[in-house]
Amino acid sequence: MIEIDGERLNARLDAFAAIGATASGGVNRQALTEGDRQARRLLADLAWKRGFSVFQDPIANLFIHRAGRDDSLPPVMIGSHLDSQPAGGRFDGALGTLSAFEVLESLDDAGIETERPIVVVAWTNEEGCRFAPGCMGSTAFSAGEIPVGWQEKMTTDGVSFADELKVTIKSLQTAQMLPLGFSVHAYFEVHIEQGPSLEASDIPIGVVVGIQGTRWLEVIVKGQTAHAGTTGLSFRRDPLRALAGSLSSLYETIMPADPDARFTVGRISVDPGSVNAIPDEVYCTIDMRHPNPARLDEIEQLARSSIAGEAARQGCVVAISRSFDMAPCTFAADLQQAIERAAAARGFKSTRMMSGAFHDALFVNRIAPAAMVFVPCRDGLSHNEAEHVKPEHAVAGCQVLAHATLLIATGPGRAGS
Ligand SMILES: [Zn+2]
Repeated sequence: MIEIDGERLNARLDAFAAIGATASGGVNRQALTEGDRQARRLLADLAWKRGFSVFQDPIANLFIHRAGRDDSLPPVMIGSHLDSQPAGGRFDGALGTLSAFEVLESLDDAGIETERPIVVVAWTNEEGCRFAPGCMGSTAFSAGEIPVGWQEKMTTDGVSFADELKVTIKSLQTAQMLPLGFSVHAYFEVHIEQGPSLEASDIPIGVVVGIQGTRWLEVIVKGQTAHAGTTGLSFRRDPLRALAGSLSSLYETIMPADPDARFTVGRISVDPGSVNAIPDEVYCTIDMRHPNPARLDEIEQLARSSIAGEAARQGCVVAISRSFDMAPCTFAADLQQAIERAAAARGFKSTRMMSGAFHDALFVNRIAPAAMVFVPCRDGLSHNEAEHVKPEHAVAGCQVLAHATLLIATGPGRAGS
């Protein structure tokens, strides 16, 4: 049995929340900013103080290594991210990263040796709000290379990704550089749920079975702009009317019929955007999510045919393209079981659940067995300065992480592998 130090964990969460703290109690510690660098330095300093080795790779993923009895074995990796949204919360990312570090410290405090090394990771740029896409660190790590085009990325105010990356790596000069990607035995990530279901069912531990698939569409409906007052009904080719009619029926069918489906239009623009002219063209995005790839196909087909049908009825033409496609992921069954066993051993109720959002674990899962532990957050809120996790839930998540990590790191092989 391993006991984590809950007070130390919660004090650490406070200390990191002070870096990039906002007036309303949240954090603004966007990826590769000075705040992000400060948080990385603090974590590295804490690690050095304990005698752990600190490494980074060419995309500034930060690794803290605690040796195993057989240090040549691939490590059990645990962690999350330290970057935040511009008006982000204190727990999204930080909870998983600091819980992982707490596991290393408690193992050390208790003098527990593990067969395998354990590596804590803080992935670079999970949020993707300053430089898109998100999960850059874990994506590059699992691909073994930095994808083409990333180095040329700029923020909207002209700051270059390549420059910020260089400065960030330099700010931890004493951390040894590793090449991108290495062999990982298993990966665990603790994260806030970012949804309301654990809190609503009063269950402290979510065993995440996978991450639902996401697909984005870009829709353009083209009609003909004309005078709003003089153009009679039979002469109108109104693309907004076509889109609105179709969206209304899609809203009324997709989600009510299928509780696992998500259908969101988050961006819409109308051209020329004049108060007294029928629009010439409308544009919108569609975000569709589902755990089942076949259902995702069906939802896409439904959206395409509905929009095309309405457009034809209004004398408009439509162009729809996919701008993003992320297949659903299923986490390793034996790691899910390890989390369940850990929760039961520590007396915490747990439930299996799907993740609605992406996480670094999705990308790690491409190269190593991965799984996640969710803890409840107040009102399901995240990406919000009011994001809140009860101290006892932070402790529960960390305790389960510690127990599950030990289950996997002490034996030479994974159960069932
Ligand atoms: Zn996160």
